[in-house]
Amino acid sequence: MDWLERAAELRQWTRSGTHAPHKPLLLLYALGRFQRDADGELRYSAVEGDLKRLLDEYGPPHRTTPAYPFHHLVSDGVWEVRTDRGPGSPGSGVRELRALGAAGRLAPELRAALRREPSLLGRMTQLLLDLHFPPSLHAELCESVGLEPEPAEPGRLRVVVRRRRDPGMRERVLTAYEYRCAFCGYDGRIGALPVGLEAAHVRWWAFGGPDDVDNGLCLCSLHHKLFDKGVLGIGDHHRILVSQRFVGHSPAAREHVTALAGRPLIGPQPGTRPVADAHRSWHTGQVFHGSPRPATAS
Ligand SMILES: [Zn+2]
Repeated sequence: MDWLERAAELRQWTRSGTHAPHKPLLLLYALGRFQRDADGELRYSAVEGDLKRLLDEYGPPHRTTPAYPFHHLVSDGVWEVRTDRGPGSPGSGVRELRALGAAGRLAPELRAALRREPSLLGRMTQLLLDLHFPPSLHAELCESVGLEPEPAEPGRLRVVVRRRRDPGMRERVLTAYEYRCAFCGYDGRIGALPVGLEAAHVRWWAFGGPDDVDNGLCLCSLHHKLFDKGVLGIGDHHRILVSQRFVGHSPAAREHVTALAGRPLIGPQPGTRPVADAHRSWHTGQVFHGSPRPATAS
């Protein structure tokens, strides 16, 4: 049994480019629990709150229930569910899962494989992160599911990820935006080297987003994180969207986030392609949270 392949195939669920990381999030959560208690069970009623928070934070913009992956992950062969009545899942109904004491855990063969081969857990984690989430979220996601991130090993897992990132992308995007954050204009350097500036993918690399300038934005670290979390987006005429779900009352939160609503992006320089509509609308549909705030008069 190739467990990495099996974990990678959860991806088929997202073939159309829809960001639907329900199953990967549950699997990551279960791997985190396995790390602490290898044979422990996750009772639906006890973990429902945790899973809901994960889905709210890292899932799709629309509301969704943890009951769905709790039941459906069984068919992927990595997860099993039983109830007070015995083995087998009662379905994806929240009420049944609660009332029948449904409890899930990693499939016995997978638990055995993880025991036999301790490095498998880290590789599986990295694979799920690479396939479903942008790199800027990997560390905090590990923290959220209680996984100890593995120290980076050269070549780790790159074998299973078929596409390779183009290392030239960062340079091309930063140049296109003249080493300034497209949202706030931040352009810090230490000596000659830019600091705190990153090349963001608009359509995530994990969802087929190409390493092209018209799929990139030069963003400061704060705005990159907020963009990948769906707080910020790009609207018509390349104007900045700020989610109504973002709340921050300090002058800093207002200045760095809410005041951006409706402002035009800064850059790219003439002669370079701005963000393509197709990538922009993927981000708005799959990542951006809720409705945008009206533009602030400034
Ligand atoms: Zn910025």
